[in-house]
Amino acid sequence: MTISDTIAGRDLEMLRAAVTGGIFGVGDAGYDQARQAWNLAIDERPAIVVMAESAADVEQAVRFARTHGMRIAPQGTGHGAGPLESLQGAMLLRTSRMRGVRIDPVSRSVRVEAGALWQDVTVPAAEHGLAALEGTSPSVGVTGYTLGGGIGWLARGYGLAANSVTAAELVTPDGRFVRTDGDHEPDLFWAVRGGGGSVGVVTALEMRLYPVRELYAGALFFPIQRAAEVLHSWRAWTGRVPDEVTSLGRILRLPPLPAVPEPLRGRAFVLVEAACLDDADMGSQLLGPLRRLGPELDTFAMIPPSWLARLHMDPDQPVPNQGDGTLLADLPDAAIDTLVALAGPDSDTTLLSVEVRHLGGALARPVPDGGAQPDLRAAYAVFAVGIAPTPERVGVVRAHVQAVKDALSPWQASYDYYNFKETRAPASTVLPADSYRRLQEITADYDPDQAIIAAHPVSPPR
Ligand SMILES: Cc1cc2nc3c(=O)[nH]c(=O)nc-3n(C[C@H](O)[C@H](O)[C@H](O)COP(=O)(O)OP(=O)(O)OC[C@H]3O[C@@H](n4cnc5c(N)ncnc54)[C@H](O)[C@@H]3O)c2cc1C
Repeated sequence: MTISDTIAGRDLEMLRAAVTGGIFGVGDAGYDQARQAWNLAIDERPAIVVMAESAADVEQAVRFARTHGMRIAPQGTGHGAGPLESLQGAMLLRTSRMRGVRIDPVSRSVRVEAGALWQDVTVPAAEHGLAALEGTSPSVGVTGYTLGGGIGWLARGYGLAANSVTAAELVTPDGRFVRTDGDHEPDLFWAVRGGGGSVGVVTALEMRLYPVRELYAGALFFPIQRAAEVLHSWRAWTGRVPDEVTSLGRILRLPPLPAVPEPLRGRAFVLVEAACLDDADMGSQLLGPLRRLGPELDTFAMIPPSWLARLHMDPDQPVPNQGDGTLLADLPDAAIDTLVALAGPDSDTTLLSVEVRHLGGALARPVPDGGAQPDLRAAYAVFAVGIAPTPERVGVVRAHVQAVKDALSPWQASYDYYNFKETRAPASTVLPADSYRRLQEITADYDPDQAIIAAHPVSPPR
């Protein structure tokens, strides 16, 4: 029996009347569509799904859930559904219809509703010569990404997205609508900036934008047979580049799908992708050492920041996938050789992509008055992912992802990166220890009953 079976029909009808969005119980037409996460490999089965359309809807939904003893899983897109615990008996509170975005070009800031995607922000921001701290995928949600930190294409220049948040509005687990910023409810403000979503359901965020009309960005493609040579050269290059350059080295096996352009379709490459906050002359000069390796394809050009969305070739549409990542304290030659052995030309890997992102720069400098992730205490971040359309394939891909993580463990940092941790793990493993302890205290104050189901759960302090 599910919790929705036990909710009096009259109560559910009252919720339907109070909420302008949709309510879907088990067996209702539309339930399967409403519960579907972006990651199609995840099968979420909540007792009810509330498709909120406003902060008022969120308030009603939270109060209803608490009255009926249900836990609440806030979700925008479901890109980050991988680590979620079972939603049995819980309310899935979806914000995907709340996509309002308001840009203020004068104060260089944006206000987004909780369900906005990065493409909802980056395209209008670019019209004002402004850039947001988006990640590699235009369809990732601003809220989930930012609550977990947010490493994007401008990360070494401007830091984690979370530390550009200037205000947040949320409904706390006791059903209160709260606006928090540097002067109001400082604990909440600290927690939402990198501590995940354990303190309430966010309904809107406000954050800084940056004056970037164009930047020099693109990718160098080399045949996968050159993986070791290119990744070693990229690693050495990352030791010399200024903070204006954010880059990653990557082994990529492109699927033989019509959506992939003909010259690349079904082929495997080693790539360097980078964004340089510079003009073409300076960008070319910086890129020189890698370009001299002789790539097969070179897409670097001056582009508006909204075009960064295509650089990493992340899928537009939902896909079944299995991935995981970690932070590395260092990336010595032995770590690169290990990676190439597991994912390079002579491996039998099922992984579509294994990438290593260069951190440091602004990411490494603690932000005064920053949030739960004031900095990232690691030099590189790794993320490995494969397509997993069947349960059997999930098992195989998961094993290959785990093999990469295990092999890199000698160089692992003291915690993993919140947003790249796509398997179940407590928040203690994805935050610095001092941040986790403070988050435990704050979460216990705001959510003593642990009503919120966050991507990475926070245990009560002892
Ligand atoms: C293709 C792809 C590319 C990615 N690229 C990057 C990248 O470049 N940089 C990076 O840092 N990460 C990246 N990620 C990871 C991504 O940031 C996380 O998966 C993030 O959680 C996605 O946020 P979402 O809102 O889209 O997902 P959702 O699954 O909707 O949300 C994830 C979690 O965030 C919390 N949450 C969401 N909305 C709310 C809310 N309104 N209130 C409270 N809590 C909420 C919940 O705990 C939820 O489980 C990528 C992921 C994918 C799949």
